Amino acid sequence: MATANSNGTGGREGFLKRHIGFVPNPISKRSHQLTARTQDARVTVSVCPYCGVGCSQLVYSKAGKVINIEGNPDSPINGGHLCPKGASTYQLINNPNRPTTVLYRAPKSDHWETRPLEWAMDRIAQLVKTTRDATFQMTNPEGTRINRCESIGHIGGATLDNEENYLILKLWRALGIVHITNQARI
Ligand code: SF4
Repeated sequence: MATANSNGTGGREGFLKRHIGFVPNPISKRSHQLTARTQDARVTVSVCPYCGVGCSQLVYSKAGKVINIEGNPDSPINGGHLCPKGASTYQLINNPNRPTTVLYRAPKSDHWETRPLEWAMDRIAQLVKTTRDATFQMTNPEGTRINRCESIGHIGGATLDNEENYLILKLWRALGIVHITNQARI
């Protein structure tokens, strides 16, 4: 049973006053001053690049840097949710383990070498030209004009957007390449 305290209050009423009414606000001054890290951030609606479900995402950025990516609650597809893979999209941009240089492994080599991007672009262009020159088919065995090259294939990346895939398709089709796939999402 509660008894009178030094303030002269007692019983159940005094107990409640001491523990609820007179208790200082349990939210600290520091907590009052805290704000969400996404506050005042620019919000851009985007689409998860990983699979064909096409979940909508909100991309938060400040000073040109992405600071958070989460599900878009206005989307009829995902209603604000993302699967574990989609929820990790942030790491596509901010990830210290992501390679940012060209890595080249020479034929029969057992290790990777860092090379300049220009070197890689030149090598790809040279290999494409050499392969196409050597294997281009102007006609089929029946003499029908086909203008195709079956020795080169293209596999697209999930984070390529429609415009990039349009240009890629134009390039490969112009070269006669027929084995083309992409993963246009955005
Ligand atoms: S969040 Fe998951 S289910 Fe949705 S599009 Fe991305 S990978 Fe697919």
